[in-house]
Amino acid sequence: MTQTVKAPATKETVKGFDCLHFIDGKFVPSKNGKVFDNINPATEEVIGTVAEGGAAEIDLAVAAAKRALNGPWKKMNANERVAILRRIADLIIERKDEMSILESLDTGKPTWLSGSIDVPRAAYNFQFFADYIRTLTAESTQHDDIAINYAVRRPVGVVALINPWNLPLLLMTWKLAPALAAGNTVVMKPAELTPMTATVLAEICRDAGMPDGVVNLVHGFGPDSAGAALVEHPDVNAISFTGETTTGKIIMKSAANSLKRLSYELGGKNPNLIFADADLDEVIETTLKSSFINQGEVCLCGSRIYVERPAYEKFLEKFVAKTKELVVGDPFDAKTKVGALISEEHYDRVTSYIKLAKEEGGTIVTGGKRPEGFDKGYFLEPTIITGLDRKCRVVNEEIFGPVVTVIPFDTEEEVLDQVNDTHYGLSASVWTNDLRRAHRVAGSIEAGIVWVNTWFLRDLRTPFGGMKQSGVGREGGVHSFEFYSELTNICIKL
Ligand code: NDP
Repeated sequence: MTQTVKAPATKETVKGFDCLHFIDGKFVPSKNGKVFDNINPATEEVIGTVAEGGAAEIDLAVAAAKRALNGPWKKMNANERVAILRRIADLIIERKDEMSILESLDTGKPTWLSGSIDVPRAAYNFQFFADYIRTLTAESTQHDDIAINYAVRRPVGVVALINPWNLPLLLMTWKLAPALAAGNTVVMKPAELTPMTATVLAEICRDAGMPDGVVNLVHGFGPDSAGAALVEHPDVNAISFTGETTTGKIIMKSAANSLKRLSYELGGKNPNLIFADADLDEVIETTLKSSFINQGEVCLCGSRIYVERPAYEKFLEKFVAKTKELVVGDPFDAKTKVGALISEEHYDRVTSYIKLAKEEGGTIVTGGKRPEGFDKGYFLEPTIITGLDRKCRVVNEEIFGPVVTVIPFDTEEEVLDQVNDTHYGLSASVWTNDLRRAHRVAGSIEAGIVWVNTWFLRDLRTPFGGMKQSGVGREGGVHSFEFYSELTNICIKL
């Protein structure tokens, strides 16, 4: 049976896109035939069905991945592997428009965004890690005249790649490319809400010449379903998981039974620290993005905005005015800056925090409601809240939507104290033209990534991950290979 993926030229032709599992080189339905509906969050229409996998499909996928570890993939030399990874990148670029449409239909994000970031970055992830293997070395050590030691890299084995719904293709390829480059075989479990680009990605891997069983894909739900079966499976050697902190804790418990290697990219409640000497126009332009891009559904979004008091009023006035200009609506309209939230459940969760903000004494300065003229779709106006402090749940908990709080501060010490008073530690951005302060503050924030006078500027060689409950481990550049490969030290007595 083949998958029903046919290059859809427009959003209309996507109706009836049925997502099947991809196991051992073939697209297959669930053994029990179960499917669930895939909903477009911007229209609330059903756009296709998704095969609902469970333990049976996970067993088949893991068995295929395990067999493939000793198949043609292992026997290929680095040049042959690199050629396949490069072909995957080329095919993603070839199918860029189609993938951007699918990503926007699944997530509700604007097509200019999926077309300019998600899909090109997916291709670049493969190009980058294909190049990276050429520079990869392992250590060797001379032990006086007694012995020499050298380390060799080998794959970890079968790796589970589990992803959330906000950046489905970008994040899946961020894991898949290095996992494959390091010689592993994989089972991908995309979020149930965003199955389409993962399905095309599996097809692309097949078309690029990937041997059967190396890349497997099982759709389905997380708890008590495909996700749980995958993390519990004794033949899975490592799990790369991106998602909520609470899910990460559950997975860690299941993975403990077979002591799997884990890489975690989890939730965040990231601060922006804006000092009065920063260039205000630059600050506003970037803060609009760090607050509302992708409907605020990016783990790196800065949702706690701290502004030094002398700049507070001016910042707020300009920030609110620019936020009101953001067009919310149809992801397929080029004017749209903010699309639809991912689902009804998530819309209810995000808006419950707006209600809570009022109960906690906050003021909704702009936004806070569904924009006029929409009776379908999970649209929400970008929302700015003031008047809250660190004791409030709205300031402490991850909302993961287009909702930010703005809080004034007086001193560097005071703001650092507030910023670090959280169990999250993913990212932060600092805005100042004072060189010494920039270094001092950046080095004092408890976060895995700190940007100075910018946001979300990524060099894929750099370590990516979170501190505290925002993550475990780092990926990116050599750090990805530290996770996706095992080192064996060989000691030779002289
Ligand atoms: P979830 O944790 O709910 O889900 C993530 C993935 O895990 C989904 O595929 C989900 O399946 C699956 N899953 C859920 N429960 C289990 C389980 N018990 N066992 C195995 N798999 C399971 O996250 P969301 O999808 O809601 O994504 C939003 C979160 O992701 C936010 O907290 C955000 O901060 C974080 N994130 C972090 C990033 C980072 O780099 N630090 C980047 C992007 C997002 P299903 O969807 O089918 O339930």
